[in-house]
Amino acid sequence: MTAGRWIELRQKVKSIGRPLTCPLCQFHFSYRHHLRAARTCPHCKVPLGFPFFYRVILYIAYLAVAGLTMYKGYHKIGTGWLLLGLPFAAAFGFLAQIGVLRAFPPTLEAHAEGNTWLNLK
Ligand SMILES: [Zn+2]
Repeated sequence: MTAGRWIELRQKVKSIGRPLTCPLCQFHFSYRHHLRAARTCPHCKVPLGFPFFYRVILYIAYLAVAGLTMYKGYHKIGTGWLLLGLPFAAAFGFLAQIGVLRAFPPTLEAHAEGNTWLNLK
């Protein structure tokens, strides 16, 4: 294996394990790094968040899966599921969000502290 091929392969592995990219310094990092750095870029320390539309998609994925879990359970088990099924619906909804995060990594956006979203581009 040539050195060039090896570097190419390493880059590939790196980008799989680190799906997030800082919009300001192009640093690649994982969700774990993002959380550990208190939702900032581990490299340049700028606060980074998911874009609005992406948070909407996550919310819809959660609602769709949780709703489907409640609907299917209600038809199989009956009224008892409306109470029993809630934690399951929440768990499946959460798993659906993780699935979306893994399948379609978001493009992060820089934003200010608090809930004020700034476009720093
Ligand atoms: Zn950065």
